[in-house]
Parts: sequence; C-alpha cells; structure tokens
Amino acid sequence: MAKEILVKPSLCTGCSTCSLACSLHNLGEFRPSRAYIQISKREFEGRFEIAFSSSCRGCGTCARSCPSGALKWVDFAGDPPAGQCK
Ligand code: SF4
Ligand code: SF4
Repeated sequence: MAKEILVKPSLCTGCSTCSLACSLHNLGEFRPSRAYIQISKREFEGRFEIAFSSSCRGCGTCARSCPSGALKWVDFAGDPPAGQCK
C-alpha cells in the first residue's frame, strides 16, 4: 500500500525537526534552509505554514520525524482528501 503525508498545519509547533531530518536524509547535512520542506511563521495569525518544494521526493522522512502530529506518514489508497499532500 502506498504511503502518503497527511498535513495538519494547525498542529505545527515550528520546531523544524522535519526540515532538519529532510536535509540530513536527502542532502547529508543539517541545513533546514535547504530542505524540501519549509516552515514559516505567520506572525499575525499565530500559526505556522508548511510548504513542500517541487524537489520533494516523497520519502516521508519529515513526516516520520514530526513530534506533534502536524505531519503523519500514513497508508493511503485512492484519491487524497483535502489537506493531504503527495
Ligand atoms: S517527503 Fe519531501 S520534504 Fe519530507 S523528507 Fe522527504 S523529500 Fe523532504
Ligand atoms: S511540521 Fe512537525 S516537525 Fe515540522 S516544524 Fe511543525 S511540528 Fe515540527
């Protein structure tokens, strides 16, 4: 069964573990600024935004490292519901 990343930005704490894990796994270095997932803070809205670049390989490393549940690596079959990535 295929795996997909389920994204719930409202649960994101901005810890950047996902971007650290992505950069280490895909680039061999701890450099979140070059990761294929970017976290940005919406100051006035008091929340974080999660964005994937077009270079994302869909490996799921970011989702498996997320401690808050904002990203989840889940089994998936069929068309993704709204809010689901990849
Ligand atoms: S799924 Fe994409 S963003 Fe997440 S770790 Fe893999 S390459 Fe990086
Ligand atoms: S998505 Fe998860 S790992 Fe990434 S910054 Fe938000 S809480 Fe941290």
